Amino acid sequence: MKALVGGIEAGGTKFVCAVGTGPDDFRDEVRFPTTTPDETISRCVEFFRGAEARFGTLAAVGVASFGPVDPNPASPTFGYITSTPKPGWRDTEFAGVLQRELGLPVGFDTDVNVAALGEAAWGAAQGLDTFLYLTIGTGIGGGGLVGGQLMHGLIHPEMGHIRLPHDLTADPFPGVCPFHGDCLEGLASGPAIERRWGCPATELPPDHPAWILEANYLALALVNFICTLSPQRIILGGGVMEQTQLFPMIRAKVRELLADYIRAEAILTRIYQYLVPPGLDNRSGVLGAIALAQRQIGEATAEGVCEPKNPGGINR
Ligand code: ADP
Ligand code: ZN
Repeated sequence: MKALVGGIEAGGTKFVCAVGTGPDDFRDEVRFPTTTPDETISRCVEFFRGAEARFGTLAAVGVASFGPVDPNPASPTFGYITSTPKPGWRDTEFAGVLQRELGLPVGFDTDVNVAALGEAAWGAAQGLDTFLYLTIGTGIGGGGLVGGQLMHGLIHPEMGHIRLPHDLTADPFPGVCPFHGDCLEGLASGPAIERRWGCPATELPPDHPAWILEANYLALALVNFICTLSPQRIILGGGVMEQTQLFPMIRAKVRELLADYIRAEAILTRIYQYLVPPGLDNRSGVLGAIALAQRQIGEATAEGVCEPKNPGGINR
């Protein structure tokens, strides 16, 4: 039997804390808004102490954090949230506080790397060793595994901040990224859509021209990631991807941009299984945090292979 562990999905808007061993054994969960670091991290500690009183000792805790973060265990600032523009959270120690307060091993990584782990363990990336998980929401971020390893390197990938061709005649919107203006996140995040069209993304009808532009920007980014990292699959999550009509539009544009150059059946004939939504819906982050905690104590999670979902239907 697997050891009971804790997981935290630490978002810029809300936190989700849970204890369990996987999707079929989820014992308890709590959600609360992200306020100050002190108050928010204390609530996590309180929840896990309460869970230990009810369910017994936890073996480890995993954290899927908004960022940028320092995920390097050899660094003096390991487990910190670093250069975030979120007020009050810059240079905040996170994993170390949990480790001291709870006396448990703590795994710590970016929200998207951890969501990717969750998808590898129980979702749409089972059996794959090189794949990406992207979130298109308040921000845009990407993570995943390359050759079975979570991507870190210099710090960690920042796939939301790549530069794209931006035709200012077709789209004069300057972008919303406070660092770069019209990077991918600046042009295609939920807040970018809202600012460009003067209306929340949630309120734009499915046939609004906003979605054609959105699909084109996302496809440009994906083609760059496909050519650079050669992923076996790309999972697209986050609030904006609730617009499921985007999936067939993005698939078609990716095919057009790649122009039959990458001769893989996954792209040429099965792209509807290649660019897919998360298999764990909106639970990839918190379940990934559980998987990360299990990794921390040497428990493997990947099991079986599943067929990815295909919203928006098959697309040639
Ligand atoms: P976060 O990125 O903050 O963790 P989400 O992934 O839910 O949270 O992303 C929130 C963003 O996604 C907001 O900008 C919101 O407008 C947009 N969004 C949420 N739901 C939808 C939807 N159904 N259609 C279009 N945009 C959405
Ligand atoms: Zn940027």
